[in-house]
Amino acid sequence: MQKISILLVAVLLSTATVVKGQNRDYAMAIHGGAGNVSQIENEPERAKLYYASLDSALMIGNNLLASGADGVEAVIAVLNYLENNPLFNAGKGATCTLEGTFELDAAIMEGKDLSAGAVAGVRIVKNPINAAYAVKQQTSHVLLSGTGAEAFAQEEGLELVDDMYFATPKTMEWIEQVKRESEKNGTVGCVVLDTKGNLTAGTSTGGMFKKRWGRIGDAPLIGAGTYADNNSCAISCTGHGEYFIRHAVAFHVCARYKYLGESLEEAAHHMIYQELNAEAGNGGLIAVGKERNITLPFNSSGMSRGYVYKDSGQSDIIKGIGIGEKIISSF
Ligand code: ASP
Repeated sequence: MQKISILLVAVLLSTATVVKGQNRDYAMAIHGGAGNVSQIENEPERAKLYYASLDSALMIGNNLLASGADGVEAVIAVLNYLENNPLFNAGKGATCTLEGTFELDAAIMEGKDLSAGAVAGVRIVKNPINAAYAVKQQTSHVLLSGTGAEAFAQEEGLELVDDMYFATPKTMEWIEQVKRESEKNGTVGCVVLDTKGNLTAGTSTGGMFKKRWGRIGDAPLIGAGTYADNNSCAISCTGHGEYFIRHAVAFHVCARYKYLGESLEEAAHHMIYQELNAEAGNGGLIAVGKERNITLPFNSSGMSRGYVYKDSGQSDIIKGIGIGEKIISSF
């Protein structure tokens, strides 16, 4: 069992956490959604639950990567954990449409061959990221939607649930008071550089609160909310999806890094702070680059997020989690 580096004090970093790459065995970053989440830090008991969940997600991915698993396996395991966790807006706990229904989106992409799979608007698939992976592996398509995607998931033997499975006491309250202003942000994402040097990105979400039924966000759109290319980086976005679609954010970060010679940090910051902003494109992204660097910028008040990596020749892993500005390595 690897020893975990523990800093006793919380370290204050800027909203854009950056970890420079070096001789690294593997690197992974996760997000649990952007938006008005920094207020969670003012509620210690609630914050503890979020930190514990982010930490568990990091350790699930870390243990797989440390044992030499492929990045795609780590991404799916991490996202399944977060989808099954009612704290996040993906799988169980997903936000609802204006009609009080649940419509989930997810995508996965592997940078080694640009293979990708996605589902949009699925109502009864327990783990949409598994359906996205099945689309990638079993079909010649990239994106399946609605009842067609559900029928495909059933054919693939994936677990189907009653649509009310996704509801939590909190979402039931929303459904009853769906006209009242409220919001839930908590899309989940995971990006990985594995020990073989392959990059993978995955994103899963219930979408935007009170979206119209049939609305599809950025998460399942390759190049908007999710992208991976071994010659560049792996990206998963969260935030106001319509803006992430218009700006093709995930692809642009990869392209700027690949073609303009910008660092991963510069490319990601350009998209989150220059092209988007808190009013037009509220949100953030997580990125892992081919040079094993990590950046996690957001223009919203917070983004629940984490990273873990292991440098070559070191027995310790380095990890950090945060919701608002602060990144901590223990809680
Ligand atoms: N980007 C997601 C969407 O627009 C929502 C989110 O990340 O909170 O569907």
